[in-house]
Amino acid sequence: MGQHKSKRKTLSAEEEYPDFSMHCNHMAKVLTLDMYKRLLKRSTPSGFTIDQAIQTGVDNPGHPFIMTVGCVAGDEETYTVFKDLLDPVIQERHGGYKPSDKHKTDLNPNNLKGGDDLDSNYVLSSRVRTGRSIRGFCLPPHCSRGERRAIENLSVEALGALAGDLKGKYYALKNMSEAEQQQLIDDHFLFDKPVSPLLLASGMGRDWPDARGIWHNDNKTFLVWVNEEDHLRVISMQKGGNMKEVFNRFCTGLTKIEELFKNKKHQFMWNEHLGYILTCPSNLGTGLRAGVHVKLPNLSKNNKFEDVLKRLRLQKRGTGGVDTAAVGGVFDISNADRLGFSEVELMQMVVDGVKLLIEMEKRLEKGQSIDDLMPAQK
Ligand code: ADP
Ligand code: MG
Repeated sequence: MGQHKSKRKTLSAEEEYPDFSMHCNHMAKVLTLDMYKRLLKRSTPSGFTIDQAIQTGVDNPGHPFIMTVGCVAGDEETYTVFKDLLDPVIQERHGGYKPSDKHKTDLNPNNLKGGDDLDSNYVLSSRVRTGRSIRGFCLPPHCSRGERRAIENLSVEALGALAGDLKGKYYALKNMSEAEQQQLIDDHFLFDKPVSPLLLASGMGRDWPDARGIWHNDNKTFLVWVNEEDHLRVISMQKGGNMKEVFNRFCTGLTKIEELFKNKKHQFMWNEHLGYILTCPSNLGTGLRAGVHVKLPNLSKNNKFEDVLKRLRLQKRGTGGVDTAAVGGVFDISNADRLGFSEVELMQMVVDGVKLLIEMEKRLEKGQSIDDLMPAQK
C-alpha cells in the first residue's frame, strides 16, 4: 500500500470517513469522525493504517445481539498507535477492562481444582486452545507472503523438537487433498476454510492456502494451527470429560513451545497490560478458550439457560465451531472471558460451570426443578 499511496489523491477525513449508519459493532460505536481525523494521519512502523484495521468492521455491520469487535491488529504496535480506538473497544468487549489494568498469567496446571471427573455420559469431548504471535512479524491481516512463509518455516523447525507424547508432524494445507482436509475439519481438528466474511474482509485469507497448515502428534491430542487467524493456535483436546488431563497437556506443550522459540531467539508478543497479543482484540490476554462438547437437550430448552450461562461467565456455540447452530442438544460450552482472568481462573469457571450444567440437565431429565441450583453472578 505504502508506495502507491503517495500517488493517490489526498482527500479529507470527512471525505474518507466510513458510512456507519447501519452499523452495530464495537469499532463503529467508538470511531467518531473526530477520532478518525486524528488516526488517519498515523500508521504503525510496519505501515498498518486505521483503514486496514477497521475494514472488517466496515464491511460487516454486525447486529445488536451479536456484537462483533469490528477491527483487527496488523502488528504488535497496532494496539499502541491506535490506542484511542482500541482502548475503548477493549474496555467494551472485555467487561470494563481499563487502560491501567494489569493482566495475569497462570499456566500451572496444579492450581486447577478438580476437572478430571466431568460425566462422560454428557461430555463428549474436551478442548483448550490459545493463540500466540511471534514478535517482529506482522500479524495475519497485514503480513506479507514471505513473512508468512518465514513463520511457517520457523514453526515447523521449532515444533520438530517436541518429543515423547508431544512428538508430531506438520501437514501443509497445499500438500493435502481436498478430501483429507475436509476429513480433518469434520473431525474437529482443523480450522475451516476462510469463508466467513469477517475473516475475509480483515485480509487474513490472502494467498490461501499458502503457508497454512496443521501440526499434530500421532493421536491428535496436541495440535498447532499455523497462519490461520493467528501465527499459532495451540490446542489440546481429547474425547470424554477429563479437562484436567487436557489442561495438563496444554500447559506442558505450550511452555515447551515457548522455550523452543526462545532458543531460536524469538519471543511471543506479550505485555503486562494486554497479556498475549493476538490478531483479534477479543482474544487478548490469555487467548484461552476452554470448552466441552456437552449434551444438554433439556436445559437448552429451558428458559433459564441463557441466564445460567451468563451468570457462570460461559458462552455457547454449535459443535461445528463459531457461527454454527447446535444439533441434537449438543453444545460447545466455553469460557466467555479472555482478558483480566488467568488461564487457571478461566479453566476453573469452565470446570465448575459445566459440572453445574450437567447437574441441572439431570434434574430436568427427571422432571425436577432447577430453581435451587441457580448460581450467583460470577
Ligand atoms: P476456535 O475458538 O478454536 O477458533 P471454533 O469455534 O472456530 O473454535 O472451532 C474450531 C474447531 O474446533 C471446530 O471444528 C470445533 O468443532 C472444534 N471444537 C471446539 N471445541 C471443541 C470440543 N470441546 N471438542 C471437540 N471439538 C471442538
Ligand atoms: Mg475460530
